[in-house]
Amino acid sequence: MSKLDYENLTSTAFQLRCTACGDIHNIDSKHRLCSCGKVLFADYDLEKAKETLDKSTFYNRRYDIWRMAEIMPVFKNKYRFTLGEGWTPLVKIVNLGEKLGLKNLYLKDESFNPTGSFKSRGLCAAVSRAVELGIKEFVIPTAGNAGAALAAYATRSNSKAHVFMPEDTPPFIVREIKALGADARLIEGLITDAGKMARKEAEENDWFDVSTLKEPYRVEGKKTMGLELAEQFDWSLPDVIVYPTGGGTGIIGMWKAFDELEQLGFIDSHRPRMISVQSSTCAPIVKAFEEGKDYAEFWENAHTIAAGLRVPAAIADYLILKTIRDSKGTAVAVDDLTIKIAMNQLAKEEGIMLSPEAAATVASLDILIDNKDISKDETIVIFGTGSGLTTPEEW
Ligand SMILES: *Cc1c(COP(=O)(O)O)cnc(C)c1O
Ligand SMILES: [Zn+2]
Repeated sequence: MSKLDYENLTSTAFQLRCTACGDIHNIDSKHRLCSCGKVLFADYDLEKAKETLDKSTFYNRRYDIWRMAEIMPVFKNKYRFTLGEGWTPLVKIVNLGEKLGLKNLYLKDESFNPTGSFKSRGLCAAVSRAVELGIKEFVIPTAGNAGAALAAYATRSNSKAHVFMPEDTPPFIVREIKALGADARLIEGLITDAGKMARKEAEENDWFDVSTLKEPYRVEGKKTMGLELAEQFDWSLPDVIVYPTGGGTGIIGMWKAFDELEQLGFIDSHRPRMISVQSSTCAPIVKAFEEGKDYAEFWENAHTIAAGLRVPAAIADYLILKTIRDSKGTAVAVDDLTIKIAMNQLAKEEGIMLSPEAAATVASLDILIDNKDISKDETIVIFGTGSGLTTPEEW
């Protein structure tokens, strides 16, 4: 099996299943949500995947999100578009780790991805599968990172991106999205207004909406973070994963990845505790977790410098909450000032300049230690979801 043999590899995805009502949908249809309004997941034939997926011959494969093509949603190699996303470094955090007394603190540094954030993983998978299904025009409402990633992969796949942003989106982000060939629309009002306009125009023009978890494949792209972690830890998993949570694609994607890897026989049943970090000025998941609820309430007046965490209502709230509870994890909120301090600390003490969302995970460590949610000898992975260069605000 060489890097070139991907021509012969196909996906073993065989159906879409509703994560709420259990309804089964055809894998070849252009599905968004289930008819019940909830999130669809792709199911794979893992017994069939085992015929070619073998960890002893694995070293020879592509280093992008298509590394385990059998458990990704694209069937034909020519639709496996890539800009080199994925296979990001797992860096030991030494200086800060020592200061905090955490001996095995690691950072999965997602700032290495195309367009500077892990959004590229999800949009690479979603665009690739959609183009394979014959879709040519995409739409997304965004505060920044998702729009840039969609623009890049739409251009790469010779399709068209329509990106709807609130009018106060920082000019350098608007420039980036335009430069990458997208139709960039600045909408009066907030991200919710951009969302409304995007939906209206999508319906009128028959564009495909790739908003978070409103189609089943962005989560498959984010799943690759979990696949990579298992491989980078030599087919075991860390004790704790700390993840800055907005729409929650990453946290639920990784959880899905771990189940698939166990069924493939690649890992055992040990699971990390999944810890969700949000900003205290937009923390619907933390609130619902603390109140023991299965769904989160809409968060009024959401604002935070961590734009990727400014998600007042996540469509997959029930999946995020279930993942946190099933993993025996927890959810914590950190305020913007603490996030800024953590950004500075990570840059000045470790040499890594990350976005506020990523810094939120660093900011949470003190609280987690105080609450005894993590302990000194455990292997802990924090997620550096985006580059500091994607950050508009002075800090
Ligand atoms: C979108 C985003 C997040 C939130 O990711 P989800 O998987 O939707 O929870 C976190 N950090 C950055 C930098 C983002 O762009
Ligand atoms: Zn359903």
